[in-house]
Amino acid sequence: MLDALRRAAVSDPLDGDEHDDFSQARLARETGLAPATVSNIVRDLTRAGVLETVPGGGRRGSVVRLSDTAGYVAGLDFGHSHVGVAVGDLAGRLLAEDRRALAPEPDHARALATARLMLDELLAGLPIAPLRRVAMGLPAPIQGSAVGSASIFPGWEGVDTGTAAEDALGAPVTVENDANLGAVAEHRLGVARLRESSFFVKISHGVGGGMIIHDRLFRGATGSAGEIGHLTLDEQGPLCRCGSRGCLEAYASIETVQQMMSGQLPEAQFGEIVDAAHAGSVAARRAIEDAGLHLGWALASIVNLLNPGVVVIGGTMALAGDLVLESARIGLRRHALDSVALTPVVVSELGNRASLLGALLVAADEVDLAEETSGTDPDD
Ligand SMILES: [Zn+2]
Repeated sequence: MLDALRRAAVSDPLDGDEHDDFSQARLARETGLAPATVSNIVRDLTRAGVLETVPGGGRRGSVVRLSDTAGYVAGLDFGHSHVGVAVGDLAGRLLAEDRRALAPEPDHARALATARLMLDELLAGLPIAPLRRVAMGLPAPIQGSAVGSASIFPGWEGVDTGTAAEDALGAPVTVENDANLGAVAEHRLGVARLRESSFFVKISHGVGGGMIIHDRLFRGATGSAGEIGHLTLDEQGPLCRCGSRGCLEAYASIETVQQMMSGQLPEAQFGEIVDAAHAGSVAARRAIEDAGLHLGWALASIVNLLNPGVVVIGGTMALAGDLVLESARIGLRRHALDSVALTPVVVSELGNRASLLGALLVAADEVDLAEETSGTDPDD
């Protein structure tokens, strides 16, 4: 019951102020709970400092909102050479964020220490309130709260990531695949809003995917669903870092495009390759289009299988815009069934921030307000 109340109270984080205040009648309607039950829960949450009465809002404190001191949640997004940290309120609304470079393939303890430092700095700029929950994204298949493949994310292998993060950060931590977090953000805040099913592909150092089915993230039996990057396109193809051959990632990752261009544009960042393509470099255009074509072939299997309402391309590849979209659509149409061949393929609006914003939303979703009403002091 508490969970239903919280979901109603913290939903629609981008819908503006009119959703900040909740009448108890509306809470009863949205949760399906009896008015007397809502009244009891609201009283407990108000005592616990999570909700506060809106001055002048209806009779006898019948309109409530999240209290300013209800606490914070944090989102962390670890990449192969960066970490992003964001702090939000219990509705998952962004309050502050920071992003820093890490040494390539960082050791997990050092990466977590950097994140802790950034988190402390962000919290120091906000009114004092407890940090209730952290969600962190890692660019690797996740099993439980550990990295499920050592070769995919070195520096984090063999570690109970959730426990290590809880020790470093001093708050409960949820560990999730970064593309899954991106899928959540695009579904709730980005271009996949209003679609009940969508597929998000994150293309950066590697290639990952996350799927929303019937408005929920589909994680599979052990949390590893959506790994489109390791779909086999050619069993005789190039070796992939997962150990297999001919995976999509071996054709479409940012690293692959940069390697293809290493003769013409040595050491170039992906953005520079995109600029070169726009400036007329046939090689740069071809390298990006080839990645898009292979992506489209893999997406054909995804849309045949899942029939998502939209496919969103995120991560660094989103910088390529139409250059990658056109070839991905051509590749998809070549191998998809007629019924799904025109599935929209678009680039992310949230760009490199999708996973970080998704982490904030997941952290807010997982705050257990039941704990707050069981007699514990919220400031503990
Ligand atoms: Zn692979």
